[in-house]
Amino acid sequence: MKLWMYGCTDEHQKDAAKGISRLKEIGFSAVAGSASAARMAAEEGMEGYVASGAYRGPDFRSDDYLAQDPWGNKCRWFSSTCPTRKEVREYNLEQIRRLAATPGIKGVIIDGARFSSPSSGPVGDGPHDRGTDAFFTCFCPECMKKARSMGFDADEMRTAAGRLYDFVHGKPVNLTWYMYGLHQWMEFRRAATTEHLINFARTVKEVNPELKTGIFIFTPALSDLVGQSYRDLRPWMDIYSPMIYRCYPEESGPACLNVELSDCLKMLQGSPALDEEARIRLLSGITGLELTGYEDPEIMRQGLDVSLVREETRRARVMSLGRTLAPIIEFDDPKLESAMENTRKGGADEISFFAYNSEILEQQAPVLERAAAE
Ligand SMILES: [Zn+2]
Repeated sequence: MKLWMYGCTDEHQKDAAKGISRLKEIGFSAVAGSASAARMAAEEGMEGYVASGAYRGPDFRSDDYLAQDPWGNKCRWFSSTCPTRKEVREYNLEQIRRLAATPGIKGVIIDGARFSSPSSGPVGDGPHDRGTDAFFTCFCPECMKKARSMGFDADEMRTAAGRLYDFVHGKPVNLTWYMYGLHQWMEFRRAATTEHLINFARTVKEVNPELKTGIFIFTPALSDLVGQSYRDLRPWMDIYSPMIYRCYPEESGPACLNVELSDCLKMLQGSPALDEEARIRLLSGITGLELTGYEDPEIMRQGLDVSLVREETRRARVMSLGRTLAPIIEFDDPKLESAMENTRKGGADEISFFAYNSEILEQQAPVLERAAAE
């Protein structure tokens, strides 16, 4: 099975060339990461993929570019701007065009093309660090204008998002009145995100039609919430890499299932209308995952069962029909071999790891060599 690694250096192995040759020796076939890592991998006879962010850039650091909640309050999220700002998107496509011209590479993978997830907002002291509240974005004037131009009921979606915010902040709200608006909001997130991802894919193919297009995408449990549609992208993406991180140990972990779901539960704890059982039932309903047993956000935070890797891979397999499915899993997963096995059983074509770590690479070398040879 084809194995990928994200990156090829760490604090112990600073020499990229050595990192790449060791990966090759173990049987890895692909490296994703910076343009220089991808180029070096290509020079070593491996497949090199350049990874790029989406809604960032040196000229967009002013607060004017931040996403806004339904009342116009600014929110930082994932070091990104409002996800629909025209100049930011154009800058990203220019950057993609430049990266796609990297000699010898096999393709370009986009990361962070989405709206804020519950765990994307920083919990800090900054005026715009609002933690999970960053999820309730973006309703800036440009997003409202864009939503209208795309045929969405912008006012209804903003009102509904505001009422959902009130609900999880303890106010009595009958959410059933706002389902239409919430649906419009999610559909706008999807349409606006798909639009940029199509432009990304077109840009890559314009530079070189032989290049592969890929995406680091939220797992099926969370992808709809952030506007990433597996189905929409099928004509455009050659490679899907769902980020199936089940036991991420760091405090901040956007996209990581254990962190995102734990933050969702904490958010729902804000509503006195929901008891413990109702909260987990609601979260199971939203994500389609069986989450009984994870009622306590702290338990959830410690990590989800490794079998969920299989279920998330299976669902991604269904929705990415006909395309290469290369889930990216945690390289420091204490049950790495089982996580790999579950990925395989879920229907993955290839497996990718986040992120390069020379110690784990040596510890797990026999397991990886076996997997690569299969
Ligand atoms: Zn906006």
